[in-house]
Amino acid sequence: MHRVEIDAEVNLLSENRRYAREIRKFLKENGIVAVNIMGAIGSGKTLLIEKTIESMRDVKTGVILGDVVCKADYERVSKLEVLAEAINTGKECHLDARLVWKSIRKLQDVDLVLIENVGNLICPVDFDLGEDVRVVMVSVTEGDDVIEKHPEIFRLADVIIINKIELAKFVDSDVDKMEGDARNLNGRAKVIRMDLKQNIGFDEWIEFLRGVLDVSCSSG
Ligand code: MG
Ligand code: ZN
Repeated sequence: MHRVEIDAEVNLLSENRRYAREIRKFLKENGIVAVNIMGAIGSGKTLLIEKTIESMRDVKTGVILGDVVCKADYERVSKLEVLAEAINTGKECHLDARLVWKSIRKLQDVDLVLIENVGNLICPVDFDLGEDVRVVMVSVTEGDDVIEKHPEIFRLADVIIINKIELAKFVDSDVDKMEGDARNLNGRAKVIRMDLKQNIGFDEWIEFLRGVLDVSCSSG
């Protein structure tokens, strides 16, 4: 890489860290838990968000939806009558903390913020969004080598969701291998086998999320 490019990248990442710190402060001051949901296009991120909202109506939830150009996910989620903010990143394939900072300030009154990152497993790794929980979601239809091919993002996850497990037999994906890869890369993360359409693994996710919310409440 050229010198100029390295300097630009260092500046970009230090700016990101500064905004991520602002977000952390804001979340703490307002008693908000933020969850960053990462994963490829088609892994099931938006459906997970929709179902989570529906089953946690007792929790005041806001949503930030990142997409490169369109607002289709924003329109889907807005139908559920929650506070939702859309972020279009233009040509960038990830959310950064500066963009999230602008939106999250409008969600001051919620208890939980679900952030749908832009669909990709590579560059969201470099951009801390000040979140409390990092979720990485994959679908078995991406191939059972998808986890071993993207080690960095799985290493930083708090929760790894392997979705669409009911489709594994049709696409020759070995779910045991995927789970093994996830555990090898990250022994700390919670790994959930899921099929949202069949309601498999969803209760486990909600139980996890409620646990995080309880801890943050009792610690003030
Ligand atoms: Mg989506
Ligand atoms: Zn990117």
